[in-house]
Amino acid sequence: MTMKKRTKEILTFYSEKQVCFDNIQNRSFSKSPLKPYLLMKRIEFKKLNNVFSINSDFSPFSEVDFKIAHTETYINNVFQGEGNYLSNSLPWSKNLVKSVCYTNAALFEAKKYSILHPETVCFAPVSGMHHAQPNRGSGFCTFSGQVISAIKLYQEFGVSGAYFDLDGHFGNSIEDSREFNPLLNLAIPKGCNINPTGKNESYVESFKKGLAHVGELIIKGKIHYVVFAHGADSHEDDDIGGGCDTKHWVQCASIFAEWVNKISLETGRFLPVTLALFGGYRSDNYNAVLDLHLKSLVKCSKIICRNVN
Ligand SMILES: [Zn+2]
Repeated sequence: MTMKKRTKEILTFYSEKQVCFDNIQNRSFSKSPLKPYLLMKRIEFKKLNNVFSINSDFSPFSEVDFKIAHTETYINNVFQGEGNYLSNSLPWSKNLVKSVCYTNAALFEAKKYSILHPETVCFAPVSGMHHAQPNRGSGFCTFSGQVISAIKLYQEFGVSGAYFDLDGHFGNSIEDSREFNPLLNLAIPKGCNINPTGKNESYVESFKKGLAHVGELIIKGKIHYVVFAHGADSHEDDDIGGGCDTKHWVQCASIFAEWVNKISLETGRFLPVTLALFGGYRSDNYNAVLDLHLKSLVKCSKIICRNVN
């Protein structure tokens, strides 16, 4: 078997347009709308620039994209600041609306690139999607970016994907959107929204079962790409999460990365991989949230991209 090398850097779909600077630092429990910016700063501070390359050149989602997973009324409410526009529990601003158009697009563009260029591991430094429902936001989430991106990619390329959602909270928006847009059953087949449960060893075992299940579907040609959303709120020190100590939390990243290599070897082609952030809340020490995310990203960089610098 001859396979090219993986691209050394993780290609990161980031622009400051996907950051909301208005009212988040002082008025929002969730700092996630600022997280892409804070993470990029932390990458500089930790001198990890060589792990990532940046692509900032992508267009935002429009209301037409959001219609794939949401009612017109809800979309209009969010854009105009009316009705149930506060259902995401975030302080509304024009800047917030603009930023979510870019976070959702960043995830789509990252996934699309990974499908077109499987040798490159892609990364969308985004959160605030997996609790959104067709007619409302929920739990700091505004629009269902993972649902929309999956359906768009199914329509464009006929590909189906799986989510490893290791956020500390169940990613309900996929299951809650199946009736609204049945194409989702093809874009993310049932049983392919993997949300491990349990604590430490049992959490790791639950994750491994999900990997084994999706692995079989990849071998059978039924799943074509994966997204690994390693939410930091599955860590025991998080303000609203907690299932894993640091050892087991980081172990999940290593297990995922080794699994990606194993599956790629078995199929003879690089498995398209996209990484994402999802949740993470620490009022006492937000850098601890960022550092957990970075530990996971660096593991993926070392094991999948073999970036040893
Ligand atoms: Zn969460």
